[in-house]
Amino acid sequence: MAVATFPVAFDNPACTTREAWARVPQEPDPKRRAELLDACREQLRAADATLVAHYYVHPDLQDLAQASGGLVADSLEMARFGARQPGSTLVVAGVRFMGETAKMLSMDKRVLMPDLDANCSLDLGCPGDAFSAWCDAHPGRTVVVYANTSAAVKARADWVVTSSCALDIVAHLHARGDKVLWAPDRHLGDYVQRNTGADMLAWQGACIVHDEFKALELALLKEQHPDAPVLVHPESPPAVIALADVVGSTAQILRAARDSAATRFIVATDAGMFHALQQQNPGKTFIAAPTAGNGATCKSCAHCPWMAMNGLEGVLRCLRDGTGAIELDPALAARARVPVQRMLDFTAARRGGAAPGALVPGIGAA
Ligand code: SF4
Repeated sequence: MAVATFPVAFDNPACTTREAWARVPQEPDPKRRAELLDACREQLRAADATLVAHYYVHPDLQDLAQASGGLVADSLEMARFGARQPGSTLVVAGVRFMGETAKMLSMDKRVLMPDLDANCSLDLGCPGDAFSAWCDAHPGRTVVVYANTSAAVKARADWVVTSSCALDIVAHLHARGDKVLWAPDRHLGDYVQRNTGADMLAWQGACIVHDEFKALELALLKEQHPDAPVLVHPESPPAVIALADVVGSTAQILRAARDSAATRFIVATDAGMFHALQQQNPGKTFIAAPTAGNGATCKSCAHCPWMAMNGLEGVLRCLRDGTGAIELDPALAARARVPVQRMLDFTAARRGGAAPGALVPGIGAA
């Protein structure tokens, strides 16, 4: 079996998303890349702006965020960090729900995105109206939604979770006797249910990237690399999770790779992660978990087409022209902020961090 190691995704001319709906920016040549980086740095300074980037976006944006005093992180840390920034503008390099979450926690700031059409299959697969009707049909359950949802869906929820805190929060709810209505990722929901024993009804959404990892081919790859721990994101199918040595969010995968004595790993998450994995562990080797196999639908590159819509040109454009601004109705944002703040308070308390309600005073845990 061919082993794909990083880089696998960022300059793949065979990928049809380059010409199709995803509007993936062309790779700039070295001269243009240097010009764009200079111009973005200058515009960030001039606009009193901070760039917050997700681990799945292009390495250029991750490097720019780090070099300019911003942050590269998972969605939970992006939300926390953005709310703490003193500047007037946040640029969120990621997908739409991340921009919305940043905006609802910082309504006084301008929140810009390189491309407002960068979305997420989980968000798109859980429309606000249908979700609200589903909640109405199941009264008495505590509504827990993944961060990968619109502001409208969050506004209907009791709790928001990310993949890094979903287990802890649902275990907490289960311990106090709550029954859970879960949306939208079915694989993460299944993983959380099996590990907490909670009574959960789950929406049947999926991430189009993680859904493509293949268990049979992963088992064969493991046989070729018996020394390599398998690190898996919990949006992956249960049969893939069953082969994992570590199941966790992007930040938890990074921590596992850093803390392990192993020098070689098999990784089942978006290819964008390999940049931070390699940067933080220069002596270690990271092997992409297989997505191609008998059951594959797109011979996937394991890179989110929406995350790939973020590029340096887009960062420059939104800063220079003020395009890509996230607008949220204040009343909707106030409702959606409540379950997000519960998550932030819960995780801060678990970490012994900031006092509950530190970001949005007056909101306690449900
Ligand atoms: S990788 Fe999956 S969960 Fe993340 S933004 Fe893309 S579609 Fe959504």
